[in-house]
Amino acid sequence: MLKVNKLSKYHGELEVLKNINLCIEAGQVVCIIGPSGSGKSTFLRCLNLLEIPTSGKIFYQGNNVMDMTSEIKELRKKVGMVFQRFNLFPLKTVLQNVTMAPVLINKVSKEEANNMALDLLKKVGLAEKANVYPSTLSGGQQQRVAIARALAMNPEMLLFDEPTSALDPELVGDVLDVMKQLAKEGMTMVVVTHEMGFAREISDRVIFMDGGYIIEDDTPQEIFTNPKHKRTKEFLSRVL
Ligand code: ADP
Ligand code: MG
Repeated sequence: MLKVNKLSKYHGELEVLKNINLCIEAGQVVCIIGPSGSGKSTFLRCLNLLEIPTSGKIFYQGNNVMDMTSEIKELRKKVGMVFQRFNLFPLKTVLQNVTMAPVLINKVSKEEANNMALDLLKKVGLAEKANVYPSTLSGGQQQRVAIARALAMNPEMLLFDEPTSALDPELVGDVLDVMKQLAKEGMTMVVVTHEMGFAREISDRVIFMDGGYIIEDDTPQEIFTNPKHKRTKEFLSRVL
């Protein structure tokens, strides 16, 4: 579904991503772990071209997405993103947050978008919050709205950048439950996370990044019980 070939990204003089190679199959759940500053967010942002790689190639379903800038819009429709800070539109209701992109970008009728949004809000456990404003919700609820909003575009793949890091601990579980449900339903997901329990339980693969490199890419079983690299071992001993 997605193939990354020799990806490199510089911010000024700093090489933030170094020779990243990766394939993601449809239906896979891939968790990315690693210390702060290792390039996880930059990598995720490169995957849907929120950042433009300095060199290397990204193929989505066989098409080189950096060939044509006109493909960026198409790519972003297919590859949704959920951020650490939920970035909901504060002056729109929950329902409007979810319906806006389908109506404006996918040209879905308002009625259809409303119906779909209500279904999605039900799915994330927030059907009764459709008509309130985001500021009245907890962080966990806002993040679930952000997930519903991403799903409203009918994405083929979802990228999550530390979706629970900004949440109070007691609110993390509800968000992870929604993500687990999506994973079970077969959504292709790439998740940058510090939730090692989630990574272990849900992912098909875990990628450990450090210093701009993919150091290790393996099954959760191998990464968590039998890490091969010194740096993976050190990182895990600090976080587990
Ligand atoms: P992570 O998500 O793993 O914490 P990031 O991808 O955010 O790592 O950052 C990787 C490195 O790139 C860090 O050293 C960070 O300071 C640097 N960096 C990230 N974004 C920018 C930017 N827009 N300009 C300059 N440096 C950046
Ligand atoms: Mg980050």
